[in-house]
Amino acid sequence: MPVTASRTVAVIGAGAAGLAAARELVLQGHSVVVYERETQLGGTWAYTPERESDPMGLDPMRQIVHSSLYASLRTNLPREVMSFRAFPFSASRKPGRDARRFPGHAEVLEYLKDFADEFRLRDLVRFGSEVSHVRMMEDHKWIVRSRKNESGDVYDAVVVCNGHHTEPRIAEIPAWNFDCRSHLKHSGIDEWPGKQIHSHNYRVPEPYRDQIVVLIGSAASASDISRDIAEVAKEVHIASRSVQIQELGNISGHENIWLHSMISYVRKDGTVAFKDGNEVCANVILHCTGYKYHFPFLETNGIVTVDDNRVGPLYKHVFPPALAPWLSFVGLPWKVVPFPMFEYQCKWIAGVLSGQISLPTINEMMADVEGYYSLMEASGIAKRYTHRVGDHQFEYNDWLAGQTGSPPTEEWREPMYLVASRKKRSAPETYRDEWEDEDLIALAHRDFEKFVS
Ligand code: FAD
Repeated sequence: MPVTASRTVAVIGAGAAGLAAARELVLQGHSVVVYERETQLGGTWAYTPERESDPMGLDPMRQIVHSSLYASLRTNLPREVMSFRAFPFSASRKPGRDARRFPGHAEVLEYLKDFADEFRLRDLVRFGSEVSHVRMMEDHKWIVRSRKNESGDVYDAVVVCNGHHTEPRIAEIPAWNFDCRSHLKHSGIDEWPGKQIHSHNYRVPEPYRDQIVVLIGSAASASDISRDIAEVAKEVHIASRSVQIQELGNISGHENIWLHSMISYVRKDGTVAFKDGNEVCANVILHCTGYKYHFPFLETNGIVTVDDNRVGPLYKHVFPPALAPWLSFVGLPWKVVPFPMFEYQCKWIAGVLSGQISLPTINEMMADVEGYYSLMEASGIAKRYTHRVGDHQFEYNDWLAGQTGSPPTEEWREPMYLVASRKKRSAPETYRDEWEDEDLIALAHRDFEKFVS
């Protein structure tokens, strides 16, 4: 590969990842087209009150609504931590902007728009262009077809940035046939008479007024949505796989929210029974159970597969060894701080495509992937957690920084993230408005000054 080659690159998606990819690719002299299904940029952060026709998001024929945000959503990370490294997410003084440290979703969208404007990325985006088919041709170029251009355009490389918070994962609710204690017949979820919805289609609490709601899940959105709904609902019962015995029962400060272990079974009469022995007759089950990776447009002849939410094989969650560097994925790791990680991944992709950075051989990359899978297996970690980088995220980012010759994670970002994460767990009601890490904030702002002209 010649040094500093310029490539033609298709980026799929104009969310935060696609914008970061466009910026880094342009910086490296590549020629970029960003395909975006929606008519605006921002991906997840472009809130819409619209919901899908199938509230569970299972019908393959449904009209997809991309964003999973609810109206009341505020970020669950401080803005300094969320920030792209090269474009501070500082409180804007412009009228109408949200200056809170944990701002509402509209402020994040404005920030992404500012990012696109600052780096002149909008002109690269083909809005309203849903990619329908991507395939490598015999000459190793890629053809990218969209609903607007069925015949397609040809590129040297494709960077997939289509997000992974749109295709719902649903909790399996067991169907028991017979309860020998009560001699009652139990039915499966299909016979349960209440309404079911996935959090992807949750927007506002009003439809749950005076209802008894069972909410499955324990992640950040489950915590937020349960409190949102409890403002109007009669009762909210959270079923969680990870709950400790001492946490079971009424949640302090909320007389109508209870924490339970997982659902054991449901009955035709509307009953939802929990493994902790409690039962409620509920109107709604709300699945806050996460999402699946989904690449309906991508044809790789089986080289890249999604198996139990493992996208693989991928070298460092980015490059499929056999197709590297011509196909890459941005943003697959989860339980992470996404924006700065996108920057690191995209810098790496852009540098490899231009020939400035070398990848190991295919065999070496495959051996690395196999080693990672073996380590997971030996540690008893299920396949579906392949991309849960979580505790290793800063190490991962610093590895990427090393590849690209970029500075590693700033000294304040990881401790600030850890402080915020602890506070989120210990004080879910107040962590967004009360904090004590002023020293870290000051360090962050000192760093940000480098980027403010
Ligand atoms: P997305 O934002 O989903 O963007 C993907 C883009 O691809 C979309 O614009 C979509 O329209 C487009 N697309 C998809 N398919 C196609 C196709 N076939 N053709 C063309 N375009 C396509 N992160 C934080 O940092 N802080 C938070 O507080 C936070 N809170 C969150 C709360 C919720 C409820 C959720 C769901 C996520 C939250 N996140 C948060 C994570 C968030 O997902 C990331 O911040 C980030 O927005 C992900 O960006 P992305 O570009 O990978 O994906």
